[in-house]
Amino acid sequence: MASHNLAHIKIDDLEIIGYSVAGEETVVAVPQLDVCFDVGKAPDQIISINHVLLTHGHMDHAAGIAYYLSQRNFCGQSAGTILAPKNLLGLIREIIDAWSRLDGNQIPANLVGVKPGDEYQIKPNLFARVFPTKHTKGSVGYSVIEKRKKLKTEYLGLTSPQIVELKKQGIQIDYPLELPIVTYFGDTQYADFSQLEYIVNSKILIAECTFYEGEHTERAEAGKHMHIDEFARLLNKLNNEHIIITHTTQRTPMRDIRKILKESLSKDIYDKVILFMDKRLRR
Ligand SMILES: [Zn+2]
Ligand SMILES: [Zn+2]
Repeated sequence: MASHNLAHIKIDDLEIIGYSVAGEETVVAVPQLDVCFDVGKAPDQIISINHVLLTHGHMDHAAGIAYYLSQRNFCGQSAGTILAPKNLLGLIREIIDAWSRLDGNQIPANLVGVKPGDEYQIKPNLFARVFPTKHTKGSVGYSVIEKRKKLKTEYLGLTSPQIVELKKQGIQIDYPLELPIVTYFGDTQYADFSQLEYIVNSKILIAECTFYEGEHTERAEAGKHMHIDEFARLLNKLNNEHIIITHTTQRTPMRDIRKILKESLSKDIYDKVILFMDKRLRR
């Protein structure tokens, strides 16, 4: 039986599964892209995903690392890959080593330190691009981007033998095209993410918006989290087709969050918004 009752969203051919409540646990996986953003408690449903993309070291986002790696080993799977901010890599290695000694079995791990601007290849045409967030020292977010080659318009009407001939002559007939599929902020206070074009045009945005009530503005500031007033301002500058809100506070009931979202966002933006924790299967 599955260990967690996870939220479940389907957008075209992609599923987004996970759980995300501020201060409790955050884990957001996209199995078809083979990535899991953060790993609060490593639910069973994400163990077979090969890449964990860690945004920062807070316990509710990172405590599942050792369990994730160890379960993969137990089930005979290859070592999991963990992308994490470079400044955290030494500590993560220490935790895995300590758990290996405690457990009596060496836990295999492929640890990759990342910093803003880095790219990591997930699949032949799929890359995770790293950008900075404003939460803890070295904290980052990730965009998963598909890279394709597209035929230049002037060659669109050609037959395949003609194309082969041009290639033989060494003529560049295509150009690179980037399709940002999903962007995950992790925890962050407001930053002008509209400066990054691949975030603006990411098909799916998975963003934290922790606080909603007027009197929670200071809490957002102190914890370096987003408040709805700032989030609404940010969304006006982005073009995402789907916006999934994670990391909602337990201080405000979900029905109030829904109501405040509706009041704070324009109708066309509100219609694109999905509250992640609303999407759990009843059982
Ligand atoms: Zn958090
Ligand atoms: Zn945090």
